Order: sequence, then structure tokens, then C-alpha cells
Amino acid sequence: MPGLFFYKLFCKRALVCDMISIMDKYKYLIIGGGIAGTTAAETIRGKDIEGSIAILGNEKYPLYSRVLLPNYLEGTAKKEDVFLRKEKNYKEKNINVFFGNNAVSVNTKEKRIIFDDKKEIFYEKLLIATGAKPKKIDISDFEGPDVFYFQNIDDAEKLKEKIPEVKKIILVGGSFNAIELAEAFLKNGIEVSLLIRGCSFLGGAFDDASNKIIEENLKEAGVSLFFNEEIEKIKRDDVLKNVITKKGNVYSFDLLVFAIGIERNTKFLENSLIKTREGVVVNEYLEANVPDVFAAGDVAEFYDVVLEKYYLFRNWAAAFLQGKIAGLNMVGEKTLCRHVSGYNVVNFGLNISFIGDVKKDKNTKVVKRGNLENKEYEQLFLRNNILVGATQINMNKEKGIITMLIDRRMDLSSYLDKLNDVNFNLKDIIN
Ligand SMILES: Cc1cc2nc3c(=O)[nH]c(=O)nc-3n(C[C@H](O)[C@H](O)[C@H](O)COP(=O)(O)OP(=O)(O)OC[C@H]3O[C@@H](n4cnc5c(N)ncnc54)[C@H](O)[C@@H]3O)c2cc1C
Repeated sequence: MPGLFFYKLFCKRALVCDMISIMDKYKYLIIGGGIAGTTAAETIRGKDIEGSIAILGNEKYPLYSRVLLPNYLEGTAKKEDVFLRKEKNYKEKNINVFFGNNAVSVNTKEKRIIFDDKKEIFYEKLLIATGAKPKKIDISDFEGPDVFYFQNIDDAEKLKEKIPEVKKIILVGGSFNAIELAEAFLKNGIEVSLLIRGCSFLGGAFDDASNKIIEENLKEAGVSLFFNEEIEKIKRDDVLKNVITKKGNVYSFDLLVFAIGIERNTKFLENSLIKTREGVVVNEYLEANVPDVFAAGDVAEFYDVVLEKYYLFRNWAAAFLQGKIAGLNMVGEKTLCRHVSGYNVVNFGLNISFIGDVKKDKNTKVVKRGNLENKEYEQLFLRNNILVGATQINMNKEKGIITMLIDRRMDLSSYLDKLNDVNFNLKDIIN
């Protein structure tokens, strides 16, 4: 078999080396194939047409929109609308993808990533864009085919399969995701009870007046709401499934869906030198504490130059923008991450948003404005008389100007007596 011998020899000398360098080492390696990771890869390709790029993602699919998943569940978006890329799009851009692979550890000294199947890849520049996952209830009894979390398209598919046989759903949580899911389920003809641990929606950013508007809107739509309820136990027999709360109340269900917050996907970095807190700690250029390592999207705990503190976003637009900025920084185009971000849902017709920093502390002054009868209401959050954030209900026409004011960090001392008057045009501050 002389042919084979020479082929092997040739491979040894040249091809295999090349193949190894192409297959096992990438100039740019991206962990996480969501919007942040994909945007980074595409941005890099736009700037460096030759450098090898790979995306390593633990989901089996090309990029899809998580934002549209509640609509898919509700039946107002088709599956093909949810997908934003096809496999061929990556090939066209010469971006290698390893879908369905988990990164389990990172060795930054050797610039090496280890997969769950023991495969290894070396990198020159690494982006961590691993997003977040739902927080789970840490009690074993809670697991079961009737308990769900909602993060990805597989969860949506499984829930969609269940929907025809479900009459009652208990949704746990007061987050944006929880109220979006309530709408999706209700529109499928399912009875929905929302159990909230505290007495407000969205982790306390909204005040009593805002909560009342959201609550009434959900109730009018047909959602049953129960505040100050924390689940303690589940009891299942052949006929009945009940949750029992710490107050001793009993609620029956066919499906139990938790939307009780998120945690960032950083566990695989535990034994690495990369600094993590709630997320991967990065500076205003999205660079980590270790050279050639970057983070973007939900997983990035980045230094926000507008808010002048470390902050974590959890929204699509911010993840897209950070992916782009990380990509530019990875090719050496030093680009500052400066962006005022927010979140918006339309829930049973009510337009609910927050912008900027809505975490209140002892230095936060809150100015309230709006017209409660029309369900229009806004809170402006100021620190040292500088606007840092806002919550809005049906007031999104002011979103642009509020975003601009937050970004400009103007001292609003001389406007404090006017801000709570809804007839005062915020645009007059900068005109
Ligand atoms: C149901 C739902 C509805 C939403 N609705 C809205 C909305 O209306 N508006 C809005 O602005 N935002 C919304 N969001 C939030 C928005 O989708 C996220 O902010 C955005 O997707 C974050 O993008 P990302 O690329 O940072 O992370 P992700 O989209 O989470 O992507 C990260 C990827 O990395 C993978 N990964 C994690 N760990 C590893 C590992 N160790 N190895 C390999 N891969 C890994 C993850 O599985 C995932 O595929 C919603 C989110 C959900 C779940």
C-alpha cells in the first residue's frame, strides 16, 4: 500500500499539522452561540477575513430569538420566525460551529478550552458569551415531568406539547418573563395562577402605584394573582397535584412553571483565573482580568461608564451591542462599551419598561409622574440629582429622551420641582 504510506507521510508532514492547527486552534474562539456570541463572530469576520473563528455552544441549534419564544408558545410566532440563522450562514462566513458542546473548563495559561467530551481547543482570543439560565428551586421533590423552567427552544417545544392536555398552570415569579408566560398560557385557554413571593412585580423596582396597574391589568385579563406566597411542598397522587405554600395555602395544578430569576453561566470558569462575581467581571472594553479574554451579553458584569459602576444587563439589545463591541476589541479596534439599556414588554396591552439602573438604594431619589386614570405612570430614579434610571407604564413616548438624559448625566437640580408634572416636557431640559 505505497500510496497510503506516502499519503500518511504527506499528512504527517503537512496536512495533518495544518488540519490540527485549523481544527484545534482558533484565532478567535467564542463560547456561547446566542446573540452576543454570534454578533461577535460576525463582527470579527467583517474585520478579519482570514482569521479562524469558532463558536462553541451547548445548544444544538443555530442562533434563534429567545425574545420570540413566548410568542412561539402563545402561537403568534411560527418556529421558522424564531430562527435567525441557518447553518449555511456560518459556513458562508467561514465561521466554524460546535453546536451541542459544553465548555467545562478554561486554562488561560495554556489558552485551552476543554469540552465535556474531553475534546480540547486552543485559542488566541477568547470570548465568553454564555448567557444566563433560570434559577432552580433547590428541593428534589420539585423535579418531575410537570415542572418546567423556560429558557430555550427545547423548553418551548416541551411546553407546547403539554399545552393541549393542561387546564391549570401555576406560574411562580413576578418577573417580566413570568407575566409574559402568563399571557402566553392564558391565550392558549389555560387557567393561570401567578404566585409571587413578595408583594410586587419585577423585584421591587416598581412602586405600589405601578404594581397596582400591572396587577389590575393581569386580573382583568383573567390571571389569578397571589402575593406573599412561597411554595414549600408539592403533593402528587394519581389524581391530584397540589402545591402547599409556607402560609399553608393549597393550590392545584397540572403544570408548575418557575420564572424566579436567573443565574449567569460562569460555573465552568470556577477553576480558572478569570474573575467572576455574579457574572464575568470585565472592564468598559469588555476585557476580563486575564489577557485576551473578553465577555459579552447576559454573562458580562461590565464596568458601565454611564452608571459609573459594575452592572449586568439581561436584554437582547444590550447582548447584541456588547457582542459587536467585544468583536471589535478582539480584532484590536479599541471600542468603549457605552450604552444605556432597558427592557420592555407589552403585557395584555400594557406597555411596561425599565431603562437604566432601577436598583434603589439609600441615595436614590424617586420622582413619580403620570396620569393614573389613564394607566400612564413613570418613576424617575435620581442619584445626586443625576437621572440614572426609570420605570414606565404606557409612557414609552418618553423613552428616547429619558435614555438621552441618563446618558448625558446632567445635573437636574434646577428641574426637581418640575419633574413630577407630567405636562413638563422632559425635552425642555436639553433644548
Ligand atoms: C423566555 C425569554 C424571553 C425573553 N424576552 C426578552 C424580551 O422580550 N426582550 C429582551 O430584550 N430580552 C428578552 N430576553 C432576554 C434575552 O433573550 C437575553 O438577554 C439574550 O438572549 C442574551 O443573549 P446572550 O447571547 O448573552 O446569551 P444567551 O442567549 O443565553 O446565549 C448563551 C448561549 O451560551 C450557551 N452556554 C452556556 N454555558 C455554556 C457552556 N459552558 N458551553 C457552551 N455553551 C454554553 C447557552 O446555552 C446559550 O445557548 C428573554 C429571555 C428569555 C429566556
